[in-house]
Amino acid sequence: MITHTGGCHCGRVRFEVTAPAALPVSECNCSICSKAGYLHLIVPADRFRLLSGHDVLTTYSFNTHTAKHLFCSVCGVKSFYVPRSHPDGYSINARCIDPGTIAQMLITQSDGREWEKLYPQGRGDYTT
Ligand SMILES: [Zn+2]
Repeated sequence: MITHTGGCHCGRVRFEVTAPAALPVSECNCSICSKAGYLHLIVPADRFRLLSGHDVLTTYSFNTHTAKHLFCSVCGVKSFYVPRSHPDGYSINARCIDPGTIAQMLITQSDGREWEKLYPQGRGDYTT
């Protein structure tokens, strides 16, 4: 486990996340992730620290309104958010992690378009 840093495009939102150097990430085909090209690194809340940007984060929600899609109101980039599958944790956008600490990305496909089938228990486990 190492500390990765990252943030939004304009630099107002900055975070740290504790995760392996070889990142297990998922690419989701749901309505919002497919449009954004979001790559999910899902971690428990205690492995994520928001360093700056509380004041510029805006929340978008839809459908069940469980997921809190947090994006920078200045540059528009969603660098992390609270996912419906893990409402007590965070999904970090692996594309927003700074260069230099990611050894490789282990990408799996996630069928978020069929969310209820993907998560029959109504939520997901933490695997990293
Ligand atoms: Zn920004």
